[in-house]
Amino acid sequence: MEPLININKQKCTSCYTCIRICPVKAIQIKAGDQYPIVKMNRCIGCGTCITACSPKAMNFRNETAEARQLLKSGKDVAIICSPSISAEFADVSDHRKFVAMLRSLGAKFVNEVSFAVDVIAYKYLNLFSDVKGKFYIMSYDPVIVNYIEKYHPNLIGNLAPLVSPMIACALIMHKLYGKDIKIIYIGPEIARKEEALRFGDAARIDVVLTFPELRQLFSEFSIDESMLEYSDFDPPLGYKGSLFPLSNGIIQSADMDENRLTADIITVEGQQAMIESIQEFENNVKLIHRHLNVTYGNALSGPGLSNQGNKLLKEHLVIKYANRRLNNFFRHEWYNNLQGYLDMDFTCQFRADDQRLPEPDPRKVKEILSQLGRKEDDVIGCNECGYNSCREFATDIARGLVTPEMCTSYAFRNTMNFEESLRHLNEKLALTRKALKEAEENARQEHEAVIQASELNQAMLEKLHAGVVIVNNKMKILQSNSAFVKILGEEAEEINEVIPGLVGADLKKLLNPGILNLFTYVLNDGDTIESRDIRLGETVLNVSIFTIRKNKVAGGIIRDMRAPEVQKTEVIKRISEVIDKNLEMVQKIGFLMGEGASDIEKMLNSIIEFYNTGKDSTS
Ligand code: SF4
Ligand code: SF4
Repeated sequence: MEPLININKQKCTSCYTCIRICPVKAIQIKAGDQYPIVKMNRCIGCGTCITACSPKAMNFRNETAEARQLLKSGKDVAIICSPSISAEFADVSDHRKFVAMLRSLGAKFVNEVSFAVDVIAYKYLNLFSDVKGKFYIMSYDPVIVNYIEKYHPNLIGNLAPLVSPMIACALIMHKLYGKDIKIIYIGPEIARKEEALRFGDAARIDVVLTFPELRQLFSEFSIDESMLEYSDFDPPLGYKGSLFPLSNGIIQSADMDENRLTADIITVEGQQAMIESIQEFENNVKLIHRHLNVTYGNALSGPGLSNQGNKLLKEHLVIKYANRRLNNFFRHEWYNNLQGYLDMDFTCQFRADDQRLPEPDPRKVKEILSQLGRKEDDVIGCNECGYNSCREFATDIARGLVTPEMCTSYAFRNTMNFEESLRHLNEKLALTRKALKEAEENARQEHEAVIQASELNQAMLEKLHAGVVIVNNKMKILQSNSAFVKILGEEAEEINEVIPGLVGADLKKLLNPGILNLFTYVLNDGDTIESRDIRLGETVLNVSIFTIRKNKVAGGIIRDMRAPEVQKTEVIKRISEVIDKNLEMVQKIGFLMGEGASDIEKMLNSIIEFYNTGKDSTS
């Protein structure tokens, strides 16, 4: 079964009016949550939150489906009606038409609860006439019973041990029509839906409908009074019980003394009156010396009626209805009926269900007060949060029932702070954007320069006759020139056509292991290898390897010694080296051999010239 109160998150605007208005703090908002939740264990079923929720996000459990099912089941159904029908159905011309409408729904019996009001009123009369120094709180209103059980459990013993007229009526119906009769109660208080669940089979009520739900069924069943004949309630009929919706209706029913000089019952009505009078009763019952007739007032207002206003008009309608009923009233018959049921057991027990919350740590409350911008002794608030004081509000924050955001000035301050930090953040963002743009432009220019440098490098590399390759520490080629590709052979030349410069190719797969080891050595040790000749079959490669970036990038210059241009330069270079290295020796030999020495030098220089010009200068 659905809980009594539910919240439709699709409709909820998070205004938190319900939290502020709930008299027992049964609606909570958790830190970080957007939507409130109803703690049903704390709820007393007053329905105030529902009438206060303007987006109509809050509602009570609708039981029309169960009623429809029951009415169509073919089982015997008795509908029992609260006398508040007079205030709700002012649009129905006569109560007998209304009864006919109920019968059209499929009810076999239609009874009024007024008779049970009369019975219970007389039970109160008896109870109050023999109190033996004890004073009672009347227990016919389920909201009051819930409130005392949950928030004033010390007063359980003062709750009059009598069932409500609804339950009394159900007991009478079961006695009258048998235990199998199905009962639908119709009335204005949503708390009756939960009250009906408290009692066993003897008082079983199968469905509780409010007036808006009943109107829904009339509409679904297309029931219109103009199509129907008059039909009256089934007996036993009530007498002054029709006045039950009025705050002192039950007292009037039993003609109890209401004279303020002599009466021993005080009547109060309304949310605030309930809270204050019950607290006072607990504190001062020994001085007050009166019974308390307290009602929340939902019989003429609350979400179980189609409209909540016009209380005076509704009272007038109730009184008018009661008077009209009494026009053709057979008091004697009523009295006999009453006597027939007064000996039934209408007593009941109530049980404490303590929902009072422990006081939180005062240090935490103090901390929260300062968070709210209030001093410890500065506790009178603006009431905007729904609390009488900032301290009460802070106490409930500490209990985890509400959040500081419900305080408008706190929320406003936070919004201001938030806006200020947002402004700072935006400024920072603008600066960061500008810096980013500049960095982007620099990076673009650098990138272009790198590309240009790389193109220039490549162009210069291409001009060299020697093969040049640059690799990283994973032996992947970063750059190479055509002379290098040519040294590697045809296969590499084909790859070069697809991937110019063999960029990304694995040097390990392209080069002889002997040369590869030299690259590994240079990359690992950071040394330079200069002009090392390596023979590969018929070929001699002259290899120089040097570090470009230590342990990361190395470059190699490889020359095929068979290439004519290499041979020529190499011979010149090497002869020059011979000349240089042996110059001293040659000079010594020349000194010893005279003219012969200069002939040797001449001869060697002619070889160099030959290689430079391509013709023999000695001829
Ligand atoms: S009053 Fe209604 S709309 Fe406002 S927070 Fe409560 S449920 Fe949501
Ligand atoms: S029905 Fe009453 S007690 Fe329950 S949550 Fe709503 S306002 Fe609070």
